[in-house]
Amino acid sequence: MSAGFTVERVEPTPARERARLMADAPFGEVFTDHMVTVRWSAGQGWHDARLRAHAPLVLSPAAQVFHYGQEIFEGMKAYRTAGGAVVLFRPYANAERFAASASRMAMPDVPAELFVGALETLVAADREWVPAVEGHSLYLRPFMIATQPTLGFYRPAQEYLFVVIAAPAGAYFGDRPMTVWLETEYTRAAPGGTGAAKCGGNYAGTLLAQRRAADQGCDQVVWLRDGHVDELGTSNLFFVYGDEVVTPPLNDTILAGITRDSVLALAAALGHPVAERPVGVAQWRAAAEQGRLTEVFSSGTSSMITPVGAVRAADGGFTIGDGGPGKVTTRLREELLGIQTGVRPDPYGWVHTI
Ligand code: PMP
Repeated sequence: MSAGFTVERVEPTPARERARLMADAPFGEVFTDHMVTVRWSAGQGWHDARLRAHAPLVLSPAAQVFHYGQEIFEGMKAYRTAGGAVVLFRPYANAERFAASASRMAMPDVPAELFVGALETLVAADREWVPAVEGHSLYLRPFMIATQPTLGFYRPAQEYLFVVIAAPAGAYFGDRPMTVWLETEYTRAAPGGTGAAKCGGNYAGTLLAQRRAADQGCDQVVWLRDGHVDELGTSNLFFVYGDEVVTPPLNDTILAGITRDSVLALAAALGHPVAERPVGVAQWRAAAEQGRLTEVFSSGTSSMITPVGAVRAADGGFTIGDGGPGKVTTRLREELLGIQTGVRPDPYGWVHTI
């Protein structure tokens, strides 16, 4: 697994302490024993691949990432299956999206074998950190930053660091339906911009709206473009009209979710008519009020498939169906979790055993 990676000696966290940390950990605040780092320079390409202790990075304060924000990341999970195996879900899809983000941000390509090899190396070393509790997982965060120490802003950086860290994660929202905020002042992404890339700046720009949504008692922000729905916070959005499952088509202001792609395949396999077509806000409200729109749910790695029960907006709100989790949402959630945790067969080849 760790072919090509220099392995540094790391003292593992004692089993009892690890169990305590995993039980109490607020998401994203407790990390495993190891991390992977790989360096890139214009002269040497990718080199110095290491499996080492999870620890602070030493960087020049002039590193380009601190000034011009050249950074991209991914989010994915390792699961422990019912049979005790440790698996990744569609890691090559994340590798592909990472490569697309790198290209958009003028960063070097991380070859898929290096990307997946780094994940395999880290998860194999921190195997004991993959929770055995249903719905829990080990969240993996690959990212790349521009490390060249220069304030010169005339070309992309000539030095980068690719890093993978991991954090045990409990169930996120679960079945509790979300209340979402229709954001009509701020936007997340613009045509021709970076919305389809997973770069840090896209997220920094949304914090203010997310705080406003929380102040309104909402869980997440619905991002709109020209009166049409793009996505929801850090997930994609699906609309269920009776039997039909609909999501907005991909464009350069939407992040192409891997869960979104999986849901489209699963819904079709379950016999639902499936469509990728624009959903206007006015049309959303009218369909909900007329009872034609029966369910809405989000899809994403962190929150999986989560129902949306109510929508709030500056000019008033509305509910979806009876406000509770709908049966299509629940079924799709069970199917996806079943494949991820090895309870159901995986005809798609999505599950990647470590
Ligand atoms: N949209 C945005 C903006 C996101 O950050 C995410 C999470 N990566 C998603 C959608 C869902 O993508 P995925 O299903 O691959 O997690």
